[in-house]
Amino acid sequence: MKVLIPAAKIQERIAELGAEIDRDYPGGEPVYLIGVLKGACIFLADLARATNVPARIEFIGISSYGKGKSSSGEVKVTKDLDVSVEGHHVIIVEDILDTGLTLSYLVKLMAQRKPKTLRIATFLDKPDRRQSPVQVNYVGFKIPDEFVIGYGLDYAEDYRNLKDVCVLSQ
Ligand code: 5GP
Repeated sequence: MKVLIPAAKIQERIAELGAEIDRDYPGGEPVYLIGVLKGACIFLADLARATNVPARIEFIGISSYGKGKSSSGEVKVTKDLDVSVEGHHVIIVEDILDTGLTLSYLVKLMAQRKPKTLRIATFLDKPDRRQSPVQVNYVGFKIPDEFVIGYGLDYAEDYRNLKDVCVLSQ
């Protein structure tokens, strides 16, 4: 296992993202941070504390039918939102943007809920792997096409609690 992004660098970048969100939502209205379970939970917890906007925290559960390390693009909602976000600011908070299939699906789904604004924050972005274009507003780090774990990201449910982002070798 090799460290790709150390914990201190993660925290520095999240402080910057928090400041960007502060600048983008000056109105004092609530902003729904919608975390995609389970990988985004740690990023969401840190991002929510890095911004001063009145954040409301919700989660959505998604299962993609991909096996092992790849995503198939077939997505199913396993846990829906508990609230209506109609007329509210929404930021979808995702752990990693890879092919883009999951986020493309989620953006369509959330747009149907008629939010006032809809933006996307992703902790990591692997631009080389994109199959479906997704417009992202807040990106933590762009990374090369390697399978990463830690800071919420798992391999077969392990390693989510690592403080650093690491590359998992075969
Ligand atoms: P996409 O639909 O963009 O291909 O896939 C996004 C999802 O694939 C992420 O939410 C994550 O669950 C999984 N994924 C993609 N790349 C990685 C990776 O490098 N590490 C881990 N742990 N999951 C990944």
